[in-house]
Amino acid sequence: MTTARAKTSLSVQDFQRAMLHVCDAIVAKEAYLTALDCQIGDGDHGHGMRDGFTSLRAVLRKTSFESFYEVTRMTGITLLRAMGGASGVLFCSLFTGGHEAVVGKQGLNASELIAFFEAGILAIAKRGRCKVGDKTMLDALLPALSAMKTEKQHTEDVREILKAAAEGAILGAQATEGMIPRLGRAMNFRQKALGLPDPGAVSVSIIMQGLYEGVQEER
Ligand code: ADP
Ligand code: MG
Repeated sequence: MTTARAKTSLSVQDFQRAMLHVCDAIVAKEAYLTALDCQIGDGDHGHGMRDGFTSLRAVLRKTSFESFYEVTRMTGITLLRAMGGASGVLFCSLFTGGHEAVVGKQGLNASELIAFFEAGILAIAKRGRCKVGDKTMLDALLPALSAMKTEKQHTEDVREILKAAAEGAILGAQATEGMIPRLGRAMNFRQKALGLPDPGAVSVSIIMQGLYEGVQEER
């Protein structure tokens, strides 16, 4: 429900600070992400995420951005350059897929925030040629998107929208445990991947939870 204290706009600075929180959260989970990717991938996901989000943290700490376009473009490009691997390209797309729609914007309302993520998620699906149920990061991103849209029916508060995104992503990542991989390196593991979540989907849940927590801290 929208309250008097609702936060109806996410500023560039809110996003930048929340992304710094995401960087810390991802780096702290490096060992877990590595362990997962060792079991159902080639073992490099934790290192890639650590490298990408350590570089991003350095850039975000020293740069001031005028608009969402600038901060999201820099976020995507930094991840692309520092990460490598399939997921570097895909996480870049999450932040650059919708950046044209936020040109010149100093703040995003709930609709704009959802539209931004929707474009990024569609860019990932296109670039990765992935579909629902392939056991990839998309299986955390799509539930996050649906949860944001459902929440938007009740509130314009961007914190609540991000909370819903985090909850959707966490549930989505958990649900990948029951999926057999149909794409990427995890395909080699097929049945052995049952019972383990997809590493990229887990990373998405950490990112969404980190964004929500990062915005909470700014109250
Ligand atoms: P790589 O697959 O190159 O070793 P990472 O280990 O960093 O890259 O990332 C693996 C994660 O990337 C997977 O867990 C999955 O979520 C995601 N991924 C890999 N390939 C695809 C794809 N084609 N479409 C969507 N996601 C993918
Ligand atoms: Mg890997």
